[in-house]
Amino acid sequence: MYRLTGSVGQGGRNTHDDVLLVQKQLNKNAHIASTIGAVPETGIMDEATLRAILSFQRTVVRLGSPDGRVDPHGRTWRTLLGDQPQATNVAFVQLSGENGNFYLYEPQDRVWGTPSTIQSIKNVAEVLRPHGFEIGIGDISFQQGGRMAPHGSHRRGTDVDVRPVRADGRRAPVTITDPNYSHERTKLLVEALRADPNLKLILFNDSKMPGVRPWEGHHNHLHVRFEE
Ligand SMILES: [Zn+2]
Repeated sequence: MYRLTGSVGQGGRNTHDDVLLVQKQLNKNAHIASTIGAVPETGIMDEATLRAILSFQRTVVRLGSPDGRVDPHGRTWRTLLGDQPQATNVAFVQLSGENGNFYLYEPQDRVWGTPSTIQSIKNVAEVLRPHGFEIGIGDISFQQGGRMAPHGSHRRGTDVDVRPVRADGRRAPVTITDPNYSHERTKLLVEALRADPNLKLILFNDSKMPGVRPWEGHHNHLHVRFEE
């Protein structure tokens, strides 16, 4: 279990092991807020770590006045661990049904999102309709938001996992190295996503795909983030 023995950051005790734990959690959460950036995992409290703590407090914990310190039982640490739901202002809606444009490959309690995110997915699926293939939608968020294992993100109703598109049209997983992976169809999907005014970023590891960012583990799905 991840437990801090003392506080980390501005004015904190900053023991080596505590600092290292915080640095590791910050890096896990870099996925959520791009402003956090990558922090060297050294166990030494430095400028980059402090900047990342402040940025995390500002953009994710949403503290009015970030203090740059992570306390063992404080909100910042609980949020870094994913135990604290993210603040959201809008009620989530469920992406329901399958209409020939998309299908769900995870249980229905995992496909809740902000109204604008859900609308964007439906719009993208509609844009792709003439191309004659379905898109597979995976995890979005739980109805109340909060932690969704195994992800660091997917807490705010704005992150959507989407399968790369297969050449054979089957509703099945596919990776970018699979012969059934269709780069061309997936490119159409990426283009449709990027044309959506609500799109923030796409993490995906096909290095020949324009407009996506590589991220560890994203060879078998596109992680799509929309604006809040
Ligand atoms: Zn994801």
